[in-house]
Amino acid sequence: MLGIGIEGVRKIPADNEFKMIPEKLSEAIKEDRNNSWRPFCVVATVGTTSATSIDPVNEIANICQKENLWLHVDAAHAGIAAMIPEMKYTFNGVEKADSLVVNPHKWMFTPVDLSLFYTRKPDVLKRAFSLVPEYLKTNEGDTAENLMDYGIQLGRRFRALKLWFIIRYFGVNGIIERLREHIRLGQMFAKWIDDHSDFERMAPAPFSTVCFRAHPAGMNNESKIELLNEQLMQRVNETGKLFISHTKLNGKLTLRISISGLRTKEKHVVDAWQLIQSTLSELM
Ligand SMILES: *Cc1c(COP(=O)(O)O)cnc(C)c1O
Repeated sequence: MLGIGIEGVRKIPADNEFKMIPEKLSEAIKEDRNNSWRPFCVVATVGTTSATSIDPVNEIANICQKENLWLHVDAAHAGIAAMIPEMKYTFNGVEKADSLVVNPHKWMFTPVDLSLFYTRKPDVLKRAFSLVPEYLKTNEGDTAENLMDYGIQLGRRFRALKLWFIIRYFGVNGIIERLREHIRLGQMFAKWIDDHSDFERMAPAPFSTVCFRAHPAGMNNESKIELLNEQLMQRVNETGKLFISHTKLNGKLTLRISISGLRTKEKHVVDAWQLIQSTLSELM
């Protein structure tokens, strides 16, 4: 859509906690410039899709400032957590970004879809997107902010209304309390995984998403472990009581549990863990 093609996108290597390595970013920028490419934008992620890892945004932002590059922060899933005082650290450096996306439809109880886009440079978007034909010219043209000037859509739904209702209904503190509870439950689940000799954690869990897999003591054949986890996920999901998603981390099949539902309580997480353990026992 940007017209830069797949070859215009570079992936920056990540460390063993799945965080972008700032030095690799600097190297890539230099290399690109030496090869007559013109880097213009860096996308950092707070809460990556697979592992919910947090890129070192502050260091990345410093590089972007020095190199005069637009910094976009993708916090679609996890950005909501920055509402919680003790989770504010996850937004370190985000204040230096040029733009930021947070999706209330991911983890703030809002029916799909609702993405929040923030930018410190709305005029740049306006220059790119504004195109006002005669039939859309109005007397308020110069005084009203028209959202059609800031994106590709002209007609759009009044999405802000449902966000307004959610904030009014739960209150900011009500939302924070619920998110905090999700994180507590996620950490509880992560600890169960860590303490069990037949399971292992596949990534840090800074929020309420836990990446794990079954890895029974003594089983060291990777393809066997993969098959076991595929079957475990399938059997658990077939019960309809719980939905485990999956990803690949360092080439290894990884199961994911994400606690973010409005009505998810401790009991459900306890039951989930029971079901996962008993299913593994059956498979063994
Ligand atoms: C879900 C997700 C997206 C996609 O968001 P949508 O607005 O739902 O399409 C982008 N980035 C991250 C990190 C996500 O978790």
